[in-house]
Amino acid sequence: MSSGEMYSGYIGKLIEELEKLPGIGNKSAERLAFHIIGLPEERTEKLANAITEAKKHIRYCSKCCTLTDRETCSVCSDSARDSRTIMVVENSRDLAAYEKTGKYHGVYHVLHGAISPMLGIGPADIRLKELIVRLQGDVEEVIIATNSSLEGEATAMYISKLIKPSGIKVTRIASGVPVGGDLEYIDEVTLLRALEGRTVL
Ligand code: ZN
Repeated sequence: MSSGEMYSGYIGKLIEELEKLPGIGNKSAERLAFHIIGLPEERTEKLANAITEAKKHIRYCSKCCTLTDRETCSVCSDSARDSRTIMVVENSRDLAAYEKTGKYHGVYHVLHGAISPMLGIGPADIRLKELIVRLQGDVEEVIIATNSSLEGEATAMYISKLIKPSGIKVTRIASGVPVGGDLEYIDEVTLLRALEGRTVL
């Protein structure tokens, strides 16, 4: 029996929904649910609105596919960025991790996933087509910064094979990044080292 079922009605429903969120176990869901119920109505309305509005307005950047609330994201619309260098990352959180270093001046491409035969995720299920279209423009280097998990490596191999015939330089970030490690949990120094130590594929 999940903790949601121990409470009747609305509280149970709230706990059940919170429990579905990543990293939230039974106890945390209960704690959060009672915390939310204890808040003044004005705060709970703000919270609910923030969720609804974010879901309604956030879309994919027309260039790099990251999540944004505009047609093109702030990186893609910054003319100071080097649009000839594209770093390929798995998700918008990875993009944010590299942006926090403040040392990368190229642009990104966000795949929203990685190829995983085990989970039935193929090349058509991630934003790869959009990347190939971009490569028809003026591109000098594609830096593959997918995670060093099995899926991340498989994706890197696939992309590299796909791009190589075009003559565009393809590099892979150094594997100083722990295996299976989510990029967002890695400190900036390690990220920069991985970027600077990238090798040509
Ligand atoms: Zn963008």
